[in-house]
Amino acid sequence: MLEPISKFYQSLDAVGRTTMITTPILLLAVGVLLVLERKIPYRKGLPFFREGLFVDLFWYTLVQSYFLQIVIFGFIIAPLAKHFGAQFHIMDHWPVVAQVAFFVVTHDFYIYWFHRFQHSSAFFWRTHEAHHSGKQVDWLAGSRSHVMEIIINQTIEFAPIILLGANPVVVPIKALIDAVWGMYIHANIDVKSGKLQYFINGPEMHLWHHADHEEVYYANFSTKFAVWDWLFGTAFLPQNRKPERWGLPYAFPKDYFSQHAFSVVRFDEKALAERSAAFRAYHGVRWRVLGWLGQRVPAARVLQGWEVPEEVHQTVPAPRPGGNPTAAPAVATESSRSAVTAAS
Ligand SMILES: [Zn+2]
Ligand SMILES: [Zn+2]
Repeated sequence: MLEPISKFYQSLDAVGRTTMITTPILLLAVGVLLVLERKIPYRKGLPFFREGLFVDLFWYTLVQSYFLQIVIFGFIIAPLAKHFGAQFHIMDHWPVVAQVAFFVVTHDFYIYWFHRFQHSSAFFWRTHEAHHSGKQVDWLAGSRSHVMEIIINQTIEFAPIILLGANPVVVPIKALIDAVWGMYIHANIDVKSGKLQYFINGPEMHLWHHADHEEVYYANFSTKFAVWDWLFGTAFLPQNRKPERWGLPYAFPKDYFSQHAFSVVRFDEKALAERSAAFRAYHGVRWRVLGWLGQRVPAARVLQGWEVPEEVHQTVPAPRPGGNPTAAPAVATESSRSAVTAAS
């Protein structure tokens, strides 16, 4: 049983072997964060199947990451390395640990300033607003990043690793650190790290960054090291208070392609759906898939959206003044009632 795995492992190059180790660690981290989100939630009642989970998981995490990896490494970094590669080999003899530490700190310093710039520039805000669009922030919410944001940041992140002659295994190790830390700061976990929050960033400060409160529109820009926010005067960490509103203060499209189109030209996604049956049908696909999986749909309030297919929409009660908006309607089918009950 173990022999084929061992042979396969031996046949890989150093980067492949490192990836064989980093991948299970990543999956383990996902498991740990999911358990902690259930055990000690920052916001109670946040469902696993929250609004936008499909978009974040399928489009941003799987499809976009796959294609952008090819674009960034194959079409940007590889030509750069071919052109400049031999001139900058100054890190060849550094230990791998030192190389990883160097790139983690320097890139995090860069990302603090670029992130701060994105919040200040009307043009670059268009490449970042998608990241702030989710109203239910959890372990996967950080994956929602505009194509241009990823191309800029990951080129600046990974090109120096190759061009400065670092060990190629630094790439998967750094990618693992990025992924785990990124999931951690967005996770719906009630972390109280005390004085450590002055140095290590976590959900305490980054969940505030995703809040729709004016006092944090220009605060908490740090990703890995909170020390940048404290050093440069942008830290916001009130005691015994949590955000009341999340996401953007204006309507933002729910679909992956609409979100990118919206960064170029402003439009009303709902009006577009009302005009186009094809767009409406496309929008309803994820709800139908969830329906096929046994109606394991998110909270009832999430279902009160125009993108919900008619048959599901009919089973969700509309909020009434003085009424109970989450009560199951008399016409609900058995499966939809269980969805409503489970979500309430
Ligand atoms: Zn931001
Ligand atoms: Zn974030």
